This record gives sequence, structure tokens and C-alpha cells, in this order.
Amino acid sequence: MARIRFRDVRHAYPPPKGQEPVYALNEINQVWEDGGAYALLGPSGCGKTTLLNIISGLLTPSEGEILFDGKEVTDLPTSARQIAQVFQFPVVYDTMSVFDNLAFPLRNRGMDEKLVQQRVEQIAEMLDLTDNLKKRASGLTADGKQKISLGRGLVRSDVNAILFDEPLTVIDPHLKWQLRSKLKELHQQVGVTMIYVTHDQVEALTFAEKVVVMYEGTVVQVGTPVELFNHPRHTFVGYFIGSPGMNVLPCSIDGGQPVFGKNLLNIESRIKGQLQGKLEVGIRPEFVEFADDGIPVRIEKVEDLGRYQVLTLTHEAEIIKMVMAEDQTVPSENPKIQFDPHHTKVYCDDWVVEEAVNE
Ligand code: ADP
Ligand code: MG
Repeated sequence: MARIRFRDVRHAYPPPKGQEPVYALNEINQVWEDGGAYALLGPSGCGKTTLLNIISGLLTPSEGEILFDGKEVTDLPTSARQIAQVFQFPVVYDTMSVFDNLAFPLRNRGMDEKLVQQRVEQIAEMLDLTDNLKKRASGLTADGKQKISLGRGLVRSDVNAILFDEPLTVIDPHLKWQLRSKLKELHQQVGVTMIYVTHDQVEALTFAEKVVVMYEGTVVQVGTPVELFNHPRHTFVGYFIGSPGMNVLPCSIDGGQPVFGKNLLNIESRIKGQLQGKLEVGIRPEFVEFADDGIPVRIEKVEDLGRYQVLTLTHEAEIIKMVMAEDQTVPSENPKIQFDPHHTKVYCDDWVVEEAVNE
């Protein structure tokens, strides 16, 4: 097992002839602590697979270094890194039995056949593959094949990390939920570093202790699910995590306080200094409430989602989402809202201001 560190890693794929390279990964400095359960969360195309392939050695970054326990591995091939990787689509040997598929990574390293047997049976049990061990892999459904791939990723106990690249894409929703809990359980048992790539926030938040949020080739925040919810450092984190996501509204600053429309907003501590750039205020729908005095709004839509309601409001041309308990009532005339000052944040060019400017 190892602590994995990225030092000033950037990566650009070779550009088409005559064009400038575009960086798929911008400067990444990131530590993956030994034994951690990480989710790498971000939209399609943000660089998740590129980052995983750099960890496993399938790809050498154009700049920077990768260190395993302080030793540089940037130019080492995959085979020398002891990394198991599970891809988005099943990679199995169709003509081999399920047992032989699972045994392959172990036999490949010369493990004693008795131990191979034990380990394969253990993994098969965990993934509900026991009854299929003798079958040819080609006879299994897509779900079944992906379970074999997962099994091959999990079967070795001598790895530095296991990387999962959106491994449950082809799995049906019910089984997805089961497998995700199994992976989490397994992580707790064996304690090997796991990095789980997904574009699905629910998947990320249920699997991981730490979520690494990526956006356009940059790691914008690393945090626990609660930290990401309560303190989004970047507007993308606010918007991407949460349902509905954080409201991001244009603002100006007056006397250290944000002004939205003509409304002065209270925040925890005043902003000091002059801000240059695009200024916005971020407030999660959960922290918007009706008040006697506040920002006048129009109620455009009320959606009842069972335990809570989602309201779509407008103030002039801006749309504001609000979440309200099911038993609360919507004011019938002149509705006004307030933002909880403890959860109202100011962003400058998409980055939160408090840390940079406040004391
Ligand atoms: P993700 O896994 O988050 O969807 P990727 O790491 O696959 O993102 O891709 C990041 C960016 O790099 C995208 O803009 C993608 O088009 C580009 N890219 C990925 N693989 C290659 C490649 N082999 N050659 C050129 N560009 C690539
Ligand atoms: Mg990908």
C-alpha cells in the first residue's frame, strides 16, 4: 500500500496538426492518503479517466511527478506500480471460466494454487458469483461480466490502490446499489486505497470518505460530503452537489456586504478589500426562507417531492430555487424571502471569497 502524491501534474494529449495543445489536466497537486476511500467526481470530459490512467501508469503526464510513498514512479510502467484498475466496460477473457478469470491476476504473480482457490472463492462469494464459477465468462450477462471485472480488481491483496472508473455504468440500478455498498464494506475490511470515479453525486457521496471534485481539468475541492455541502469553495461544487444545486446570483459589494438586486444581504463577516472580477452570491435552496421582510419574489412553480417541496422563485430576471418542509405553507400574497447569513457566500470569478479576503 502507498501514499500517492501528484506534484505539479499537467497533461495535454497530442493536438491535431498545427493546433496548440489543450490541457486535459491543469496543474494538479493532490495527495491520496494510504487506505483512503476517495470518490473522484465531475462531469463527463473533466479529466477523471486521464487522472486515473496517470496513477496506474497507462499514461505518462506531460509535466510533473507521481510519487508512491515518496518514491518517484512517473516513468514506471503499470506492471511495476501494483495498481488494480477496473474500467467502465467489462474486460474479461470470454473463453475462460469465471474462476480462471478471477484467478488470473493471482496466478500471474505465481500465487500458490491453494491460496488462489481460497481467494477466488472469497471474492466470488462477495460478488454473488459462486454459482457461476465453472461457467464460461462468455455466457454471462453484461452485469455478470462487469462483476468479474470488479472481482479481478479486488482479488489481489498486495496492491497499492484499486481504481474504479465508473464501474457500475452497465449495471442495473438495483444491483448498482448493492455493489456500491459491497465496495464500501470491502474497503472497511481490507483498508486498501480506493479511488472511485463517477459523475453521479449520490454514488460519490455514499461511497467515499473524501470526495475530490473535478471541473475542466482542475481539482476544485477535496472534502467530506458535509464540507462540500456546507462550504463549496467553487461555484461548480455548489451547483453540482445538492439537488437542486446552490443558487448562484449576480451581486455587487457595498460596505463589505453583498447586494443582490437592490437588496443588501447579511453575511457572517464583512468582506475586506477590493474585489476584481465576476461577483456572485451563493446560497443553497435549503437556506432560503420566507420572511416578513426581505427580497420580494414571484412564485413560479411549487413541486411536491414528498418530504419536502421545491419552489422556483424569480426576483426580476433571476431564478431562485428554494427547499421547504412539506408542512410549511406558501405565502399567498407579497412573498418575500431571506437568505441564512451563515450560509450566504460571496464568489469572485467562481472561487469563494471568505478565505482569501476575510480574516
Ligand atoms: P472524463 O473521464 O472525466 O470523462 P477524460 O479524462 O476522458 O474525461 O477526458 C478529458 C479530456 O481529454 C476531454 O476533453 C477528452 O476529450 C480529452 N481526451 C481524452 N482522451 C483523449 C485522447 N486519447 N486523445 C485526445 N484527447 C483525449
Ligand atoms: Mg472517463
